[in-house]
Amino acid sequence: MKEIKIEAPAKINLSLDIIDVEDDGYHKLEMIMQTINLHDIITIKEASNKEIKLYNINSDLPVDNRNLAYQAAELILNEANLHKGVNITIEKNIPVAAGLAGGSTDAAGVLKGINELFDLNFSYEKLKKLGAQLGMDVPFCLKGGTALATGKGDIITPIPDLVPQELVLINPSSKLLTSEVYKKYDELYENNTNRVQVPTSKLIKVIKNNDDIRGNEGWVNVLELAAETMDEDIKTVKKMLEKFNPKLTMMTGSGPTVFAILHDKKQGLDIKNNWTRDNDIVITSSTVKRSS
Ligand code: ATP
Repeated sequence: MKEIKIEAPAKINLSLDIIDVEDDGYHKLEMIMQTINLHDIITIKEASNKEIKLYNINSDLPVDNRNLAYQAAELILNEANLHKGVNITIEKNIPVAAGLAGGSTDAAGVLKGINELFDLNFSYEKLKKLGAQLGMDVPFCLKGGTALATGKGDIITPIPDLVPQELVLINPSSKLLTSEVYKKYDELYENNTNRVQVPTSKLIKVIKNNDDIRGNEGWVNVLELAAETMDEDIKTVKKMLEKFNPKLTMMTGSGPTVFAILHDKKQGLDIKNNWTRDNDIVITSSTVKRSS
């Protein structure tokens, strides 16, 4: 039976702006996304029957259709009208509900994996359309790298790869649900007014010019304040990270993971070795280029 192994990487947000909130609650986004070197590992094997079976390694996520990886397999097998089953094993390394797109990247990995395993030849455009049905970060996760995500986050414009950066991620073991953070944001910024300004075009120029990141260019996540009011660990972690003098410290996605862009790899090890909050997950990482 055929088998394929895929690395499904996490992302961070270098910026997140909400440019409009429409009457139906739709948040119009502008986000600079960046793939990082932290992966779930997905193995997909053709099954001898027509069932989809999911197995988790190091996570207690559901293995039925509540799991985005399961939903992705169901969607693409149906779309291809393939009467085949798959056994999928996910080795989960990306913290869950953490602002790192862990679920979306698994879904993207399964779409790409099944496309390749069964030689479906679905185009990137087709996979993006299927992906957007599963979650708004899935289209970005299909290729990753550095990109601008607009609309609901599903319209992807690639940006040349960011100058490589060393990172550390701190995940307070709490979880934040994306929908709850957006709800809190709406309460705090009625009619989307008075939020921090995000100079997205200027930030894209910094990346396009191949400039190194200094930290003061205006990288902002407008959800940060909302998330902080729901989880005070975020503020505490940011303050602790700032003591190590990184280039930049900010929250990713809807939190609660905070990341720092570092001066070098050594700084990441220094932070990891000297981190005093025992319940936090501390991960050293780096930025990753777009896959072909
Ligand atoms: P994003 O940054 O895209 O908003 P996130 O990192 O905040 O996502 P995820 O880790 O994707 O959040 O998890 C969001 C929810 O999706 C969780 O409540 C989790 O139970 C559910 N979920 C379903 N399938 C998966 C999966 N394969 N991996 C992680 N979470 C999953």
